[in-house]
Amino acid sequence: MEEIKVFCPATIANVSCGFDVLGLALDSVGDEMVIRKTKEKGIRITKILGQNLPLDAEKNVAGVAGFALLAQADYNGGFEIEIDKIIKPGSGIGSSAASSAGAVWGMNQLLGNPFSELELVAFAMQGEKLASLVAHADNVAPALFGGFTLVRSYDPLDVVAVHTPKELFATVIHPQIEVKTADSRKVLKTSISLQDGIKQWGNLGGLITGLFTEDYDLISRSLQDHIVEPIRSILIPGFNDVKKAAQAGGALGSGISGSGPSIFALSKGEETALEVGKSMKEVYKKIGIDFEVHVSKINTQGCKKIS
Ligand code: ADP
Repeated sequence: MEEIKVFCPATIANVSCGFDVLGLALDSVGDEMVIRKTKEKGIRITKILGQNLPLDAEKNVAGVAGFALLAQADYNGGFEIEIDKIIKPGSGIGSSAASSAGAVWGMNQLLGNPFSELELVAFAMQGEKLASLVAHADNVAPALFGGFTLVRSYDPLDVVAVHTPKELFATVIHPQIEVKTADSRKVLKTSISLQDGIKQWGNLGGLITGLFTEDYDLISRSLQDHIVEPIRSILIPGFNDVKKAAQAGGALGSGISGSGPSIFALSKGEETALEVGKSMKEVYKKIGIDFEVHVSKINTQGCKKIS
């Protein structure tokens, strides 16, 4: 294979109580990338559609993640990349992660899959480091593994694939304002109280158990974030009203998607997820902020070949 076209899924990181460790992949929202083998060494980004992002491979997360892979690969050539950017940077649904993950996944396919998924996560994290100064894996892991993933440890890197209940759907509303990941990290405190920790790991354990056992009530009770959401939500206009609207629409729970400004809700069944979307929309219509809404089942495959 000399060329591959890849679907690179959008992702929701944190998922309320799983700050920096939990994430999930979406199925109906994502970028497309074409990756081509070249005789010439190195990486060239030849085309970016949809967004104004750097063509310089050293400044684009796709290039940086790709260089990390190339440094470890037994390969004498290089790659050319085209990106069709659907996910807006700074939206909170893993725009940079989609490019980082898509680049290394596609390159691995073209090289005959010499690297494991976990190794690909480590390469893609280098792209995340360029985008947000922190080499976090909570978006790139679900983009590569699919479904829900838990980053159990960063040193050594240990990613756990978490079961995805069949009827689970995500609704995401993206108010059209930009919050840079780097900025929304700056507002966070560097320490937490033991009391908050106890609540948070109780909920994280509950959420993971609820996902594995398909216990939607337990998932609903556990979708709470006592640590990051109260601080970060200040950066998102209408946040509390959107949460109330999601609940009124029948969602199991809701929270900030990644570092925001997108807000996600999880629901049992597509019909409820669509209803939740309608309910959330009303808040931004009233405030007068433009928005986009996505309703998607959970993508259990991660990056995939389109052609
Ligand atoms: P998101 O959480 O949606 O990924 P971030 O704010 O974390 O948004 O990252 C976007 C940053 O990464 C922007 O500064 C953008 O210019 C930079 N960037 C570099 N290459 C890419 C790319 N291929 N896709 C998206 N963002 C990129």
